[in-house]
Amino acid sequence: MEAYPDELHEECGVVGFYGVEQAARRSFIALQILQHRGQQGCGIATAGPDGQMHVRKGAGLVRNVFDDEVLAALPGNAAIGHVRYPTSDIGGLENLQPFSLSCKAGRFMLAHNGNIVNSDELRMSLEARGALLHSTSDSELFAHLIGMCPPSRGWSAAVVSAANQLDGAFSTVVLTPDALYACRDRYGFRPLSLGRLGSGYVVASETCALEAVGAEFLRDVEPGELVSISKTGLESIRYSRTGSRCMCSMEYIYFARPDSVIEGCSVHAFRKRSGELLYRECPTEADAVIYVPDSGMSAAIGYSAASGLPLEMGIIKNNYVARTFIQPVQHMRDTGVRMKLTPVRSIVRGRRIVVIDDSIVRGTTSRQLVTMLREAGAKEIHLRIASPKYAWPCFYGIDTGTREQLIGSSMDTKEICSYVGADSLYFLSEQALFKASGRSGLCTACFSGNYPTELYAHEA
Ligand code: AMP
Ligand code: SF4
Repeated sequence: MEAYPDELHEECGVVGFYGVEQAARRSFIALQILQHRGQQGCGIATAGPDGQMHVRKGAGLVRNVFDDEVLAALPGNAAIGHVRYPTSDIGGLENLQPFSLSCKAGRFMLAHNGNIVNSDELRMSLEARGALLHSTSDSELFAHLIGMCPPSRGWSAAVVSAANQLDGAFSTVVLTPDALYACRDRYGFRPLSLGRLGSGYVVASETCALEAVGAEFLRDVEPGELVSISKTGLESIRYSRTGSRCMCSMEYIYFARPDSVIEGCSVHAFRKRSGELLYRECPTEADAVIYVPDSGMSAAIGYSAASGLPLEMGIIKNNYVARTFIQPVQHMRDTGVRMKLTPVRSIVRGRRIVVIDDSIVRGTTSRQLVTMLREAGAKEIHLRIASPKYAWPCFYGIDTGTREQLIGSSMDTKEICSYVGADSLYFLSEQALFKASGRSGLCTACFSGNYPTELYAHEA
């Protein structure tokens, strides 16, 4: 499990504004709120009052790429923005978004969150038709497909035509000199919410970004829907209807911010209920419940409420260390965990503790943490994971590595327990995810291997 995947997958965040003063500054705020969805790079594009389009992007955090001077170079009341997740060390600057493309209909910008499964096929067919592709990003494919649509059909038809050729996950925003377009793939893998700000509109990957800019939440953009917003108002086109929705369950489990609401379900409430169900499915005798900060916190609150065990802050997180998961090699990840998480000796010493985390991917965090908790004097360590055993790679935009890198693909629960060195280990059932969300239509492919789409050139 040493190598890091060299395939490029993206888990990102997008925003879009229309009819809102200082749209670039608002994008700057919204993107900072979505920073957890991507830290490798970011970008903002605007449509200026003179019909000109402007774009600025760069590597690093939003606050480091944009300052007053850069934002002043982005005039206009319409904007789109993007944050990109550092999923692999091969991601170059050419993959930063928004993408800018000029076609017969004019210039436009595009930013996208998700992963297209038929990208290899589309890439070959576009190149055969003479397209010059500069990046490895799916967004460029999307942009080229839009650009190939005859201009006489209009922008909405061009976006719909492109969306209909793509299979997989995308929540996409497109900006032209006159309008903002927002669309979701027909399965609805990735979230995208719509809000109202004064007389204008905002779209964002998560509702926490709408809150931050003072927008009122209106509704989610529906799977298979294209929303177009222009001077004439908001128009909705249902370009595709499928029977089954497939919201990514990892958005609820790990990725989204706890204060976001995705398709009517609060992320914090979901995690809290998962914690309650963790206890109900596997009641455990212990002295206290602690959590891996921050991702295990909401589930630990639920576990504590259901079990009556005191909730303690048994692990402290250093927020100034880069996320361990993204270190490119295994030995760096191991040291990274020690730098990031520290057990609180006075809380764990001599006690039987339940430790809650959201997921185990490679097993690095749990193994290091159990060792550190033992060193700190914990008497018993019962690891409880608020998601099922992660055993299959994701092809829809969450980067977790290949099957070989996932500890759950080659070991059963007992083997993982002994690998990480815990006294006991339990993974939440798949049914509990549906119960916790109170909904059907969740993608659970990384736990079950049942992929909702064809996989084309990808191999599970
Ligand atoms: P690992 O140490 O490889 O088992 O990773 C598990 C930790 O990474 C968990 O504590 C999660 O909070 C976090 N995690 C889970 N999925 C992802 C992901 N796709 N990207 C980044 N971090 C993740
Ligand atoms: Fe989310 Fe897993 Fe489905 Fe990927 S495979 S979309 S991570 S639930």
